[in-house]
Amino acid sequence: MPVPILLYHQIDVPPAKRMPFRSMIVHPDAFRRQMAWLRRLGYQGLSLHDAIPYIEGRKSGKVAVITFDDGFSNVYENALPVLQEYGFTATNFFVANQIGGQNAWDIPLGVAPASCMSASQIREWAALGHEVGSHTLDHVRLPDVPAEEARRQIVQARDILQDITGAPVTSFAYPYGDENARLRTIVREAGYHHATTTERRRAQPRDDGFGLPRLSIRRNDSWLHFLKKCLM
Ligand SMILES: [Zn+2]
Repeated sequence: MPVPILLYHQIDVPPAKRMPFRSMIVHPDAFRRQMAWLRRLGYQGLSLHDAIPYIEGRKSGKVAVITFDDGFSNVYENALPVLQEYGFTATNFFVANQIGGQNAWDIPLGVAPASCMSASQIREWAALGHEVGSHTLDHVRLPDVPAEEARRQIVQARDILQDITGAPVTSFAYPYGDENARLRTIVREAGYHHATTTERRRAQPRDDGFGLPRLSIRRNDSWLHFLKKCLM
């Protein structure tokens, strides 16, 4: 059974004024309703790590993977309590040089500054059973940088996150979903087990584990739109 891998960024009250990527900020009430829908339909929300046996077809069951990109503090504040309430696990892909920092890569594009989780928040996230994934050092567009720099961004991010959690970091998300065959090889050689893109469909057993598709959930998605993404 194909598995939906949901992609969120920020969970917060969106700013009133128009700004780039405002659609990436999902209201906390909408997030709670979406988790309630998953529960009502009999889905278990799982981190990528916990969902791998289902994605690979070794286990069967109604599973939706919950992922967040960029490691925002508002996910800790607004999504983590909801995940705990529903008994769901999730993956957050952290930008290793912005731990306790902010979305420095977005700000030049006109996006409002938003803080990223601190090391102690990341440790708490992990201690509650959620997965710490890697999203490079600086949120670079990997195909646009030399291979050596791409390797540094991928390898050192894993080292920094492993130092914080004291546990292996095995999941990676390509910033902007931008990747290619050469980058998949670098990610595998760096010791990761899986990587996600932003190709829009549900994951299937035949998928390359270093190119797993994801479904982006946006601010204006209606409940029907959300369910379609999960089910179709
Ligand atoms: Zn990102």
